[in-house]
Amino acid sequence: MGQRWKKYVLGCVLLVFAVLVAWTTGEQVVQAIAQNHTARTLVIDAGHGGFDGGAIGSNGTTEQDINLSIAKRVQLLASFFGVQTVMTREDTNALDYNASRPVRENKVSDIKARQQVVEQTANPVFLSIHLNKFSDAQYHGAQVFYSTNHAGGCALAELLQDALITGCDPTNKRQAKPADQSIYLMKVLDCPAVIVECGFLSNPAEEALLGNPEYHKKLAASIVTGYLRYESGV
Ligand SMILES: [Zn+2]
Repeated sequence: MGQRWKKYVLGCVLLVFAVLVAWTTGEQVVQAIAQNHTARTLVIDAGHGGFDGGAIGSNGTTEQDINLSIAKRVQLLASFFGVQTVMTREDTNALDYNASRPVRENKVSDIKARQQVVEQTANPVFLSIHLNKFSDAQYHGAQVFYSTNHAGGCALAELLQDALITGCDPTNKRQAKPADQSIYLMKVLDCPAVIVECGFLSNPAEEALLGNPEYHKKLAASIVTGYLRYESGV
């Protein structure tokens, strides 16, 4: 690990501690990390990829790149705290892509390949990272949605929402909510499953933040903090 990465990891770890300490005593923080070696595996899903860029901001930033940047930081940091992780994608490509198929078929095969990653993982917790976009530019703030198929989804979503508010934007009043049943993975997965919408590309101020890797670090630290609290029951 190079100097730059060492400094980066240390910075992220300090952020996680700072957010954890906001709720808990020092002793609880140590316990949370010590108890973290469970049999669960965190499946980290960077939304979109390849032919499917997701939402596009007014400055041309595509959602898929930011999702991947945040997801990689979540994986690095979660691994540091002893969490077993799997990534659905680790590069800019979609899953199970075939150029000879229509876009619609590629979308279906991509999402089913993500489902397969989760279903081939023992004791998974599914965490999908996306960005929001809305016609009205005033809306902003990270929000977490959960599958109602497993009670753990709601518990995890509420902890992630709290951590994102504390770690990224204390003025964010959004609450964790059940995901719409039209979202395929939220409908079919039976493990704890959440979608973290990390912010709105349609809000200029938030788009600027989301384009900054330093902010990805803050988002990742908040997400890992929420996950550690979920795993350890702190
Ligand atoms: Zn998305």
